[in-house]
Amino acid sequence: MDVLTAAWVGAGSPTPHAATLTGECSHCGAQDHLVSVRSVVSKQFTGFDGWANPSGRGVCLGCAWAYSTAELRAGAHLITRDPAALAPLDRAGVAARLRSGPIGAGEALVVPMRPGRKHLLPTAVWGRISIEDIDLVWGRQEMCLLGMVDQLRALGFGSRMLTAPAPPFQVMKTLTPPQFRQALQAWGQLEPWRQTGNPWMALAVHVTTPTTTKESRR
Ligand SMILES: [Zn+2]
Repeated sequence: MDVLTAAWVGAGSPTPHAATLTGECSHCGAQDHLVSVRSVVSKQFTGFDGWANPSGRGVCLGCAWAYSTAELRAGAHLITRDPAALAPLDRAGVAARLRSGPIGAGEALVVPMRPGRKHLLPTAVWGRISIEDIDLVWGRQEMCLLGMVDQLRALGFGSRMLTAPAPPFQVMKTLTPPQFRQALQAWGQLEPWRQTGNPWMALAVHVTTPTTTKESRR
């Protein structure tokens, strides 16, 4: 079972569209009742890479749900294979999941860091975190480095500072000697994540960004 199908089954196999055709699903290739492609993706949609048959007329009910459900693009979701399940996660929920253990072969995590922009679920793969344009592994090493980000956050370093080449003095000058050493050590350990555009760092910064007062009041 692929990630999309597990998510659809986990969501209760919703069918927001009427199937008006039969044939081969343009996206996954399954022989099924189909919903017209036009009714599930916009005219501007260009993400046909990897579709089984991009020029086909219809998609199956599961694929139609995955492409047309706005919530799937708006927020993070954890999908599990056995049993098939789909769970929405807020940013703090994603951070908690990433701290708790590696992403195993029976799980997939989808994290739209720019909500609403791209369809991530339809191309998500087991054992990976899908962010825009890339699927990331998440093992012990990544957990450890996320722990370093957490430590630096706790010492007062903000999102922009975390990707700076050296720990900014404005925070360093406020630290006690043991904290100072801790910050330097964490900074050094995060070196592999600190190249421009490193996707793990982008994810770690995103999920550990403190929720604003405004958001927490909702
Ligand atoms: Zn399909």
